[in-house]
Amino acid sequence: MYLSLLLYIAKWMATGIIFLKNMISFRISQLSPSPTLVLDAKVKEMQRSGMPVINLGIGEPDFETPPNIKRAAIKAIRDGFTHYTETAGILELRKEIAEKFERENHVLYDPSEIVVGCGSKHLLYSVFQVLCKERDEVLVPVPTWSTYIEQIKLAGGKPKLIKLFPPFKLTAKDIIKNVSSHTQIILINSPANPTGAMIDDEELDKIAHLAVKHKLWVVSDEIYEKITYGKKHISIASLNKKIKERIITINGFSKAYAMTGWRVGYAAGPKEVISAMGSLQSQMTSNTSSISQMAALEAISGKQDPVEKMRREFWKRSDFVLSLLCKIEGLSFVRPEGAFYFFVSLNQLFGKGFKTSRDWCEALLGKEQVAVVPGEAFLYPGYFRLSFACSLKDLSEGIVRISRFVKKYV
Ligand code: PLP
Repeated sequence: MYLSLLLYIAKWMATGIIFLKNMISFRISQLSPSPTLVLDAKVKEMQRSGMPVINLGIGEPDFETPPNIKRAAIKAIRDGFTHYTETAGILELRKEIAEKFERENHVLYDPSEIVVGCGSKHLLYSVFQVLCKERDEVLVPVPTWSTYIEQIKLAGGKPKLIKLFPPFKLTAKDIIKNVSSHTQIILINSPANPTGAMIDDEELDKIAHLAVKHKLWVVSDEIYEKITYGKKHISIASLNKKIKERIITINGFSKAYAMTGWRVGYAAGPKEVISAMGSLQSQMTSNTSSISQMAALEAISGKQDPVEKMRREFWKRSDFVLSLLCKIEGLSFVRPEGAFYFFVSLNQLFGKGFKTSRDWCEALLGKEQVAVVPGEAFLYPGYFRLSFACSLKDLSEGIVRISRFVKKYV
């Protein structure tokens, strides 16, 4: 009697699961949620329940948005600038972005070659939708930010992974070894998440030549361009006219201006591609928030000293983290040249209680209440990403706990 009741319930539940699965499209059922955002939600939940978790997994500046930017947003609300705008973003903002490209990156764009959207993540989604044809290959250097992979797959493209080794700098040779007749796009991200590595200037030049020679698109994610420690960022689009026609530069306000919540990013590139991205946007989100656009306008055209102040603070923290991590036997890493992460190898610790970096990070969170992101989230197991977008106090306490945890296994 009991058995048949249990069988009946199991059958009923299985039918429900199959029904739910069938409700979701195949494309979306294959999608992995952002691992960093999943970790962030878990940490917040632990903190809410009163646990003293130190979050070194963060992917956003811990600084406040500068006051002049906030004031511009408040003014926009007061002035009633609260309606739809042009889908591609207000002309004034696109003009300022074009001026910024000329002034800082030495590349000329017309405002019609620029589209503003809901964060650079959204623009990346659009660019893959626009450029990928079914089964086109996109070369993606790994370790990588996993969003690229999911977005390429959503667009019907095939990510072709190029495995990099410390110091994780992409070279033209890496591209030559992996390019094929199916390759459509090379994705570059310099400074990179999660390694902080920057592509060397000569290699950038060679990659540009390869892209022209093989008629490939280059999607260049330059979101961390302003957060560098000694080496100057170069925009690949600035290298020559021929390459400029093959580049879609993606950038945004989140990291440089501590504006992650405002959701403003932009893309620049050939008019046909940009206007196709604009059309897609017009059917997806329309414009990004009118208020955020006014804030972004102030960010890009107003005083830039807060950006420099934040950069210097990040640099100071990176030196601090370096000095502490160096003392922990069993960890190895390369000093980041930009962004705000250390990508740390655990390989010397394996075989001592842990098999994967995911297990190691979970145990660290459970036992010492320190959150870092496992290398698996960047398609590079054996490592973890430690963010220094948090206070010196948290860094100091977090690394003391990491050190204690490591000592147990060395
Ligand atoms: N590109 C990289 C490499 C990132 O690390 C991130 C965020 O973590 C983004 C883009 C997304 O930034 P946004 O807030 O502009 O969508």
